[in-house]
Amino acid sequence: MKIIFATGNEHKMVEVRAILSDFDGEILSMKGAGIEADIVEDGKTFEENALIKARAIAGLTQDAIVLADDSGLEVDCLNKEPGIYSARYAGEDTPYTIKNQMILDRVKGAKGAERSARFVCAMAAVVPMKDGTTKEFVVRGTFEGYIAEEAAGVNGFGYDPIFWVPECNCTSAELTPEEKNARSHRGDALRKMREIFCKEGIL
Ligand code: IMP
Repeated sequence: MKIIFATGNEHKMVEVRAILSDFDGEILSMKGAGIEADIVEDGKTFEENALIKARAIAGLTQDAIVLADDSGLEVDCLNKEPGIYSARYAGEDTPYTIKNQMILDRVKGAKGAERSARFVCAMAAVVPMKDGTTKEFVVRGTFEGYIAEEAAGVNGFGYDPIFWVPECNCTSAELTPEEKNARSHRGDALRKMREIFCKEGIL
């Protein structure tokens, strides 16, 4: 069985390949599977958007498990913004140095626990079963932390430089890929999905 991970985000692809490194089948990106699609993510939740992406790509392929995630940063003192709009926050093409500084400016004045935040990842799967039917699964992974006092670190992507991981005493952009994958929302969601696949006899 091969897996197509429905994303155009190369950073996510690297993380998914590392987290599923013990899966002994092919893990293809959309590009790798020769699929091009412009998917409108008009869901109201991470879960809805992940399913929209997984179903859209599953409709274009036959014999593969399609996985898709929708993820983002929730900042509690900003009413959980940017949330499902994390990629689009302040404009899709705005560099993360600017987006991150905007978040830091907006939480200025918040102290300690008031800066609580989390990364969320909803992971959806559409799986072709042996009897010709398909099954859908959705799980949620989270990564709890705080908005840092200042941006730091060069690893990861997106909001990693401003996401403070208290147990590591650094931002998630200062973690090695292995350290991030072991704790991250995407790692959490993929491990939950793998457990479901094992229980269902899919893997
Ligand atoms: P999506 O591709 O629509 O799921 O958008 C996800 C967005 O959430 C990314 O573009 C980032 O802004 C943010 N994000 C999700 N996961 C991470 C992460 O692991 N580190 C940093 N930012 C993330």
